[in-house]
Amino acid sequence: MNNGLLDAYVGKQATNGSTAPELPVAIIGAGPVGLAAAAHLVERNMPFVVFEAGPRVGHSMLAWGHVQMFSPWQYSIDPAAVRLLEASGWQAPDPESYPTGRALVEQYLAPLVAHRAIAPHVRLSRRVAHITRAGFDKMKTNGREQAPFQLSIAGADGAEEIVYARAVIDASGTYTTPNPLGASGLPATGERALADRIVYGIPDVLGRERSRYAGKRVLVAGSGHSAFNTILDLAALAEQAPDTSVTWVVRRGEMARAYGGGANDALPARGALGERIRALVERGVVQLITGWRTDRLERTPDGIVAFAGDQALAPVDEIIVATGLRPDLAMLGELRLGLDPAVEAPTALAPLIDPNVHSCGTVPPHGADELSHPEPNFFMIGMKSYGRAPTFLLLTGYEQARSVVAALAGDLEAARRVELTLPETGVCSGPVAAGGGAASSCCGPTLATPVGGANLIALTPVGVSVAASARNSDLVLADSRAGDVAATGCCGGPAPAGADACCVKDADAKAAGQDGCGCGATEDTSPVPVVAAGACCG
Ligand SMILES: Cc1cc2nc3c(=O)[nH]c(=O)nc-3n(C[C@H](O)[C@H](O)[C@H](O)COP(=O)(O)OP(=O)(O)OC[C@H]3O[C@@H](n4cnc5c(N)ncnc54)[C@H](O)[C@@H]3O)c2cc1C
Repeated sequence: MNNGLLDAYVGKQATNGSTAPELPVAIIGAGPVGLAAAAHLVERNMPFVVFEAGPRVGHSMLAWGHVQMFSPWQYSIDPAAVRLLEASGWQAPDPESYPTGRALVEQYLAPLVAHRAIAPHVRLSRRVAHITRAGFDKMKTNGREQAPFQLSIAGADGAEEIVYARAVIDASGTYTTPNPLGASGLPATGERALADRIVYGIPDVLGRERSRYAGKRVLVAGSGHSAFNTILDLAALAEQAPDTSVTWVVRRGEMARAYGGGANDALPARGALGERIRALVERGVVQLITGWRTDRLERTPDGIVAFAGDQALAPVDEIIVATGLRPDLAMLGELRLGLDPAVEAPTALAPLIDPNVHSCGTVPPHGADELSHPEPNFFMIGMKSYGRAPTFLLLTGYEQARSVVAALAGDLEAARRVELTLPETGVCSGPVAAGGGAASSCCGPTLATPVGGANLIALTPVGVSVAASARNSDLVLADSRAGDVAATGCCGGPAPAGADACCVKDADAKAAGQDGCGCGATEDTSPVPVVAAGACCG
């Protein structure tokens, strides 16, 4: 994979050493991916400094520390970090077991940051407020590439500091900049004024924040894993405090794809989560309302009422918003970024992860090439590199860290080598006609599992009565891993950028001198009805 940016920018910098090589590489964020970058810099013997806004490493992960991750330990730790830690006697937890966010911080990130090669270079409670090129605003070009980066740092104590760096790796995540409840991307009318009744993210409703939610009418918005986790916890709370009720609103008109691949998900814990949610909805424990676009909130004597146009929901006491995350680009305003206008991910990466284009959780391994910006030696990695796309996985971020550090070291061969060993993790899914149909995607037909049970929507209207059907029975899920058993179901996720191929397996086959993997063939080798995997590869 090579979009040319790396040669044009990083390569030039690395070989002529024009950007103050004695300065450190600045890493923004001491989350798992920022610290992975630090471990790779240690291995390359390159100076670095890590700025973390929170008082502890893994500050954002601790905000959802009670949530069990869907990746087991083996997919949650970085190889370079493990090498460092093991050399000082650390033992990795059981690779097959699943950490919570807090366990990952306490058992992995905390020992890592305490390592003598890293500890002296980490600055906690230091927020990077702005980044620019010293002496250059965004407009100025001549000599720009030779100027070091200038970072304005804000301390929790109010102190301000300027720091210079030869390169910047922004691994500040997206957790601190959640999407609003308003369905159009802006806060709904009244949303800000109701801030005391709204939580964004995944509150610990069974623990720290139990008293806030027990016995209350709670509205949950969002259709991703954060919403799933919250709903499961609220359902458990409702068993202990029966007056607790859960209304769940989603923008999408159907839920089959959102529930995920169930048993077919290559990350079983992720698949199981969707299955448990589906069961709660089907049992009526959770009231699901699909096709709902909140545009207004009103505080009434009976509680908070959410509106979508002239439709209204029954009043609730609390709202939990889990409608996704977006990158904080404000601090990067003086840098020359190359971002996709919709996904807000680096231009070359965006098409590989755009949920409008495909629904594969799998993304081909990528590195410094795809992460480059017109601003030489600046990279966004980790969760932030995915912009608004929701499918980021830690192992992908660790591979990004390895590749970007190799590029900064001038080792372009290593930067372009793919070392990601994650097995296929995506579940391609797409709505198709019941009973199957012709293959419409490049990946050809795949095995399908029918989804049963339509979710009838029950609205308790204020003024207006609304009802809708999720039409789940019209939908199927297709498993991208079917390609492992049937050649025609090949995939592995979208093809690498620039490759003349329909999917990863096709690209691999062509690279090995074969004609391809058989994408688009319609031969049915499966024992169940074959359907189109319309969303698999775009
Ligand atoms: C509930 C949940 C469960 C998840 N489960 C999994 C899973 O099972 N498997 C998986 O692979 N992925 C999972 N993810 C996705 C992803 O791996 C995590 O979000 C992960 O924490 C991303 O790591 P990161 O280092 O990119 O960012 P973060 O963990 O968000 O770390 C960013 C750090 O930067 C700091 N920061 C932010 N702004 C600034 C600033 N201006 N200056 C200085 N510091 C700043 C923050 O305080 C934070 O500590 C999950 C995500 C969520 C929300």
